[in-house]
Amino acid sequence: MIVITFQQSMAKYELIAPFAEQPRQKVIKEAYKLQVPITWTFSCNAIGSNHCLLCRSCYEREEALKLYEKLSQEESS
Ligand SMILES: [Zn+2]
Repeated sequence: MIVITFQQSMAKYELIAPFAEQPRQKVIKEAYKLQVPITWTFSCNAIGSNHCLLCRSCYEREEALKLYEKLSQEESS
């Protein structure tokens, strides 16, 4: 888990990233277990509001979605 604290003006903020150092497969399995709607995620490196489907983040997101779908199929069979 990564925790970063910072202060801006009078406000103090704490950023917590509990999965930042976890292997992607473990994160996806946990997301599936918690029924997190990962299709709502956005992780493209290109500027814009749609996924470019060409960058590394889009590739990794697609791989995550495939794993999520595989977990879903395994459970239903
Ligand atoms: Zn992209």
